[in-house]
Amino acid sequence: MQEQVTPKYHLITYGCQMNKNDSERVATILQNIGFESIDEVVDADFILINTCSVRQSAEDRVFGKINEFKKIKRKNPKVIIGITGCMPGRDRAGVFLKKMPIVDLYFPTADMGQLPRWIGEIRPELVNSDDIVEDYLKVIPDRNTKVQAYVSIQTGCNKFCTYCVVPFSRGLEKNRSVKDLMTEIIDLSEHGCVEVTLLGQTVNSYQAPDPENFSKDNPYKDNFAALLWEINQVDGISRLHYTAPHPVHMTDEIIDAMSLPAHLNFIHLPVQAGDNDVLRKMNRRYTAEQYLDVVKRIRVKLPNIALGTDIIVGFSGESEDQFDKTVDMYKEADFDISYTARYSVRSGTAAHRAFKDDVSNDEKKRRWKVLQELMEKRTFEKNQKFVNQTVSVLVERYEQPKITDEMLAMPEKIQELMAKQPGYCYGNSREMKLVRFHGDAKFIGKIVDVKINKADKWVLEGVCNE
Ligand code: SF4
Repeated sequence: MQEQVTPKYHLITYGCQMNKNDSERVATILQNIGFESIDEVVDADFILINTCSVRQSAEDRVFGKINEFKKIKRKNPKVIIGITGCMPGRDRAGVFLKKMPIVDLYFPTADMGQLPRWIGEIRPELVNSDDIVEDYLKVIPDRNTKVQAYVSIQTGCNKFCTYCVVPFSRGLEKNRSVKDLMTEIIDLSEHGCVEVTLLGQTVNSYQAPDPENFSKDNPYKDNFAALLWEINQVDGISRLHYTAPHPVHMTDEIIDAMSLPAHLNFIHLPVQAGDNDVLRKMNRRYTAEQYLDVVKRIRVKLPNIALGTDIIVGFSGESEDQFDKTVDMYKEADFDISYTARYSVRSGTAAHRAFKDDVSNDEKKRRWKVLQELMEKRTFEKNQKFVNQTVSVLVERYEQPKITDEMLAMPEKIQELMAKQPGYCYGNSREMKLVRFHGDAKFIGKIVDVKINKADKWVLEGVCNE
């Protein structure tokens, strides 16, 4: 009798946390039909790329990967190659697919539940079940870590910012039920999870399809605030945050709920630009003044909160004066960190149809550098306030001391002493600042107090006495 060989999959994920969370779900679906994950792509029976379309470079990487896989497909024509995520989501007409003839499966994220059937149709010998999953958000993800979890509370987006492909690639906003979310989060806490990050494209616009499942004593009317309150009642979940909120949905109730004990002392609130005409052309639905008012309301309630943002430089028609207003916005909002992107026109968006991408690459690079330098300077200055303070850190990883060539050239005795040096533990504080301290692997997954004695722009360094 022939021995049954376990089929193998190799999954590549590009893009945001939402994509990573979706990949955890695909992994569960594949494992439920008997597949095993492998690192070596050449040994896979099924190769799947979960794609991102937010910038041209992200899509170019996919074309590059598919090019690499041509060799594998030539050697092993039976290997199934699939593409999911944002690229097939927005490419309904299959224009990109035509450029990648070796791809066998090309499907938007929401269709991942069909995989057992599709793989079974192509290679029946690999699949022992044809159970399809109707609603992929009901799949409990197979998570890599036990102590932290990303939980998608909604998919899609209704905002249609003119530069963005998400409403096309992921469809309109769809919210998960309170019942499903609380079942998932309670299950996570029972399995040792202490930190939950809620995910959504405009996470704070959350509208529960089943508001009757909020507790009777929940004090909030705003559904997102009410969800934050419910999660605060779950034993064991001591760190909670969310990404990415939209400024127009930042109600006073949500700000109030952020002062509940589990909420981290950090919010990532995308601003994108500081000039009102640019914001209007982007269809961001708020003015610079309204954005700053949200920041002010947050800081009245949470004076020490760390604030992160996203900024796009060089959007269609952005003049130097308009860019200067973004610099002013940066200073006035006093951000702790920003993720600045140079505008990249995306086909299919309103900006692609209506406006010219007329800021030169050199100028985009210059504007990016101005903001980057400002951020690095401000981040360094702001981090100094942590020196001599004790911060609470969830330890995520441990790194052993590195043995360098210089050390190997030293006398044996010194090498021995150096090898005994403790390594570093790394984790984030409640302000989402990266913290490191000398420790060992036993700290991974624990929340510890660290007294900071040194701060630079990217890392706070300190001592843990536990
Ligand atoms: S809010 Fe705007 S930028 Fe964010 S996902 Fe929706 S359309 Fe895209």
